[in-house]
Amino acid sequence: MSKYSDSSVKGARIDHLGIAVESIDAARGLYEALGLRVIHQETVEHEGVRTAMIPVGESRVELLEPLGPETTVGRFLSKRGAGLHHIALHVDDIQAAWAELQGRGVTIVSPAVQTGAGGHLYFFVHPKSAGGVLLEICQDPV
Ligand code: ZN
Repeated sequence: MSKYSDSSVKGARIDHLGIAVESIDAARGLYEALGLRVIHQETVEHEGVRTAMIPVGESRVELLEPLGPETTVGRFLSKRGAGLHHIALHVDDIQAAWAELQGRGVTIVSPAVQTGAGGHLYFFVHPKSAGGVLLEICQDPV
């Protein structure tokens, strides 16, 4: 049996919730009012987005502000408005997860495993393969 059909896969947890917003500066106040803090901000040019990470217990909220209307998040905002953009699941072995999902015919959006903010690895699973939710699979930097 594959280790990914076991519900207790080592290292598996919700890493973060990605929320699309018009403005990080306008959105962060709510979290700060709850005593939470933005610990990291970064512009990811190849994704066309500015991000802000807010730790919440063992997980995080990732605010996503588009760099322009023609970016992925920009189009999401104009079509659906601000809201939940993706859920990110952490795994210990992203290459094994990629191979397992591909073997099952899951539609993967990313052309390959990508390197993102802070050197972490990630790829995206299409919402049509994930109950209508864009799913990010991620692993800590190696
Ligand atoms: Zn994310």
